[in-house]
Amino acid sequence: MRNTAEVVVIGGGIQGLSCAYHLAAKGIRNVSLVEMEFLGSGSSGRSAAMLVHAMWSPQTILLSRLSAQEYFAFEQIVGEKFDYKPIGHMTVATQAAEHALREEIAMQQNMNVPLEVLDPDSIKKAVPALNVEDLVLGAVCWKDGVIDPHAVMQGYARAARARGAEINEMVHATGIVLEKGRVVGVETTGGGIATPLVVNATGARAKEVASWVGLDLPITNYKRHIFITDEFHEIPQNTPFVMDSEVEWYFRKEGENVLMGMGREESTSFEPQFEPEFLEKIIERAELRAPILLNAKILRGWAGLRALTPDDLPVLGYAPGVEGFVNCCGWGGHGVMHAPAGGILTSEVIVDGKATSMDIMPFRYERFM
Ligand SMILES: Cc1cc2nc3c(=O)[nH]c(=O)nc-3n(C[C@H](O)[C@H](O)[C@H](O)COP(=O)(O)OP(=O)(O)OC[C@H]3O[C@@H](n4cnc5c(N)ncnc54)[C@H](O)[C@@H]3O)c2cc1C
Repeated sequence: MRNTAEVVVIGGGIQGLSCAYHLAAKGIRNVSLVEMEFLGSGSSGRSAAMLVHAMWSPQTILLSRLSAQEYFAFEQIVGEKFDYKPIGHMTVATQAAEHALREEIAMQQNMNVPLEVLDPDSIKKAVPALNVEDLVLGAVCWKDGVIDPHAVMQGYARAARARGAEINEMVHATGIVLEKGRVVGVETTGGGIATPLVVNATGARAKEVASWVGLDLPITNYKRHIFITDEFHEIPQNTPFVMDSEVEWYFRKEGENVLMGMGREESTSFEPQFEPEFLEKIIERAELRAPILLNAKILRGWAGLRALTPDDLPVLGYAPGVEGFVNCCGWGGHGVMHAPAGGILTSEVIVDGKATSMDIMPFRYERFM
């Protein structure tokens, strides 16, 4: 392992790998990434893998747009293939969630997100499996779809290595060395790395890593469960991802199977324990929203963490008061879809001195001060 680097990226999830690739692609030859387990072992390997344009805020829509430009041309830009499946993303609302969805739709239309607004009859027509009796509104964006996060991570890793970056698995960063308020190195289980620049892309552990340089990141980790059914043909292949916005319960096709997700429990553990009994809560909502799913056999499941900031926007850019410490974290439930944006913006901040693809003021740490 190298003992000096121009930049050390801590964290080998999809965000850290995107940062390593984009830094190397912008000409930084000596990037070193350290991952304490294996690539994608954190949240990036446990997501529902959706890319969504119909996001809840103007900033997150812009992040989706910037990311989609790279995802839709991944082979031309990064030189690696991955399979994007534009299955569509539908949000449905009961009366309790109607007002929020109406406001979201107005904002999205204002930002030219290609949306179809749906009444209960058209929801039923698009997804016959849904019980629409208590639904009042829906919206679908057919551009949205499923990414393959593992292929993306492997693609970024290979493309970064080809440009001189070193990607180290099973190397745990244990501390950051500061001298007179500036970063001079990273301590790891593989030895010290002298460096003037560190990127904090550690997902659920970002708060802990930031605390090493005296920074208090307001990030809380929330646990979410996903369950996969056995082959289930009663939900056909042309079904979009469906989000029941009142309780954040969702499902989509996963090959011949169905993936269902739900959950927002605060977690103090970095190792989210899978709780088979959580299935009861997911099934309870399935019984109301898509009762046909009760016929499906559950094959397996997992739990993952979403690292959320109070405004659910990421933390990007240099941290105040510490020279050489850059955050790329706080990605909540949208870090897979926004991985290109995270890497592009972080590399612009480091190499060009400022982000040019998008205004990152709303993402700066200073908003919490
Ligand atoms: C159930 C679920 C569903 C989701 N669905 C979606 C979705 O549909 N679309 C979407 O865009 N997002 C989704 N997300 C969110 C998405 O998974 C995350 O936002 C994203 O994976 C964050 O990526 P990351 O690289 O920042 O973090 P991670 O993938 O967690 O990577 C951080 C890495 O840092 C490593 N690390 C931590 N500390 C250290 C250290 N000290 N030294 C070395 N390595 C360290 C960890 O081992 C980890 O691999 C979902 C999340 C969950 C849990």
